[in-house]
Amino acid sequence: MKIGFIGLGNMGGPMAANLAKAGHEVIGYDTVDVAIEGVSLVPSAAEAASTAEVMITMLPNGQILRAVAAEIIPAMQAGAAFVDCSTVDVDSARAVADQAAAAGLLAVDAPVSGGIGGASAGTLTFMAGGSEEAFAKAQPLIDIMGQKAVHCGASGAGQSAKICNNMILGVTMIATCEAFALADKLGLDRQKMFDVVSTSSGSSWSMNAYCPAPGVGPQSPADNGYQPGFAADLMLKDLRLSQQAASSADADTPMGQLAEALYARFVEEEDGKGMDFSAMLPRFETRNRED
Ligand code: NAD
Repeated sequence: MKIGFIGLGNMGGPMAANLAKAGHEVIGYDTVDVAIEGVSLVPSAAEAASTAEVMITMLPNGQILRAVAAEIIPAMQAGAAFVDCSTVDVDSARAVADQAAAAGLLAVDAPVSGGIGGASAGTLTFMAGGSEEAFAKAQPLIDIMGQKAVHCGASGAGQSAKICNNMILGVTMIATCEAFALADKLGLDRQKMFDVVSTSSGSSWSMNAYCPAPGVGPQSPADNGYQPGFAADLMLKDLRLSQQAASSADADTPMGQLAEALYARFVEEEDGKGMDFSAMLPRFETRNRED
């Protein structure tokens, strides 16, 4: 298949390389100079779009996605598919899908989870929104870049699933970190805390698979000086998207709101920028109740 790929950064680069490795013809464009194995670069997004059967985007945010979509949709051939894998706000995902449909294109919002490691290994999880026909066209490519895909519903459903998942993740990570910090002050051994909680009703992915306490549980960024992993800045981005969506849908999400505020403070005022999102534990460790 002839594929155009726009946004060849930390995630898009290895995803495009995996498509090329699987035998597809991949034409790429990024605003900065990049070299991706097996991918031919062209000087503009529109040029990549003019001959592609599927256009994939992996961009930083909804504003950039909207700008790129405005450039490539008019250049695409009728019947081609526009698959956006970026994490963006639900409104932008729906707006771009509407524009694509109006131009006779198929559209899928297909954000991913699994990080840079999953992008390189081709083991991402995709959550997709769009028509059956659009999803069917994207699925063979999604299967190369990932190991699991859930078709969540109509356009925007992929982004909705992604931000709801990450809102749960942000909240449970904070709860896990503050509980470890409380346990420390109560004189409870961290390993014992893990042994109990990971097999009890307080268990979660944050505790069991990504334990924020160094030396406890499976290997995680905590064992590597809290180098990301999943950066606190990206968690903040996703929590902001969740609260933007909650606000436009008039949903009451007090825990999500508080998680957003805590990560904003951590990243913007404390030393959380560039740290893994589980570095909330050393943050809580050094604090007292009134801080
Ligand atoms: P990145 O900054 O490494 O890559 C984005 C790329 O888009 C850059 O190379 C940038 O130059 C390019 N770009 C920006 N504007 C452009 C334009 N107008 N035209 C063409 N290219 C343009 O970011 P990333 O880590 O690859 O993340 C991409 C998306 O994936 C984001 O939406 C992010 O939230 C999401 N995501 C990231 C991770 C992760 O662990 N990094 C995990 C899941 C989802």
